[in-house]
Amino acid sequence: MGGFVVARACGLPSLTALLLRMPELSRCHRGMLAGHPPLIVRRCLPTRFVVPRCSSGQSTSAPHSTVPTSAGFGPKIKFCPACGGSTEQRIPSGEEKPRAICTSCGLVHYQNPKMVVGCLVTYEDKVLLCKRSIEPSYGLWTLPAGYMELGESAVEGAIRETWEEATAMVEVEAPFAQLDIPRIGQSYILFRARLRTLDFSPGVESLECTLFHIDEIPFDQIAFSSVAVALKYYVEDYKAGKFKVHHGVIDKQAGASPSDPSGFVVRNHICF
Ligand SMILES: [Zn+2]
Repeated sequence: MGGFVVARACGLPSLTALLLRMPELSRCHRGMLAGHPPLIVRRCLPTRFVVPRCSSGQSTSAPHSTVPTSAGFGPKIKFCPACGGSTEQRIPSGEEKPRAICTSCGLVHYQNPKMVVGCLVTYEDKVLLCKRSIEPSYGLWTLPAGYMELGESAVEGAIRETWEEATAMVEVEAPFAQLDIPRIGQSYILFRARLRTLDFSPGVESLECTLFHIDEIPFDQIAFSSVAVALKYYVEDYKAGKFKVHHGVIDKQAGASPSDPSGFVVRNHICF
């Protein structure tokens, strides 16, 4: 794919030097790095660096940049899932961030982002949307999507969610968008999927399910920033006559509602 390279480093004098040693870097990326100001990594601060796409790629939003990893939000684990003992927040030996450590059995409990998987279901020049019957964003429109379950693949989860929310039978065609939302600890994987039959109806989490022409998508009534972003990219790709695969990071403002169209910005959008 050759779109970007993500590297992690800890305690290295120069991230640039590390990246230049990576065998998978293209000549183009090497040239860009060589002309880039030295990237210094603070000791013991894991840092993620995104190498910009080659000139053949496309970027439609803010320039790529060094991006510190997010941490320190969300509910803490108060009790050990293994033994029920209470936990304390402490930095384990050899690590950099505080973790929930059981005061009884000593297990270290890690909290990681949740994967949300779903389908951007299409039929001719229409997109299938579901009106939510549950909070958050009750009464607003979304793509069929939900948390990935243990034991299933992303595609399997996306198909399952599409069935649960719209009782729709779909054929997954291609990956479409992977969108990270660091502030709320979620990462979306959305697939383009073709509706196999027009036999669909609302599942228990939906008030109604409707096929919207791409020019009639209710962008002012979309439930989640991730869905709004994916639909925007889909409409752009459809009108350009070529579907791409998109990645982006959605930075939500503190306190913004999930559906607030002005409560977020997208950075590091890359597509190919
Ligand atoms: Zn324990």
